[in-house]
Amino acid sequence: MAYDDTNIFARVLRGEIPCDKVYEDDFALAFRDINPQAPTHVLVIPKGAYVSFDDFTATASTAEIAGFLRATGEVARRLGVAESGYRILANTGRDGRQEVPHFHLHLFAGQDLGRMIKPVGK
Ligand code: 5GP
Repeated sequence: MAYDDTNIFARVLRGEIPCDKVYEDDFALAFRDINPQAPTHVLVIPKGAYVSFDDFTATASTAEIAGFLRATGEVARRLGVAESGYRILANTGRDGRQEVPHFHLHLFAGQDLGRMIKPVGK
């Protein structure tokens, strides 16, 4: 899928839409999800134009991937949840129910997050 630079996170990156920023560096921008699903729910997005986790890991440079992952760890530490724990999730494609076509990690924290997903067949 080609990158659509009118997607909502591209517009956030360009400053056309406001966000509740928690962290920014050369590789990543992190901001609170508009519809939080945990007491702490932050989205971490790369600065580059990547559609999905698949696109990012296939085409981003090693420096971009390393910088983005380091930034995500830093976000968790700055949020004060590194010790209590958190969950990182990348919805990807149709079956992953990805809605916004700019790669993003969800960072959930602030409570016991329960099991990951339902066991198969239940
Ligand atoms: P996806 O299903 O693509 O992994 O998740 C997209 C996420 O982006 C959702 O959790 C949704 O609440 C969030 N979101 C959608 N539009 C906006 C927005 O304009 N601002 C912020 N901060 N979050 C958004």
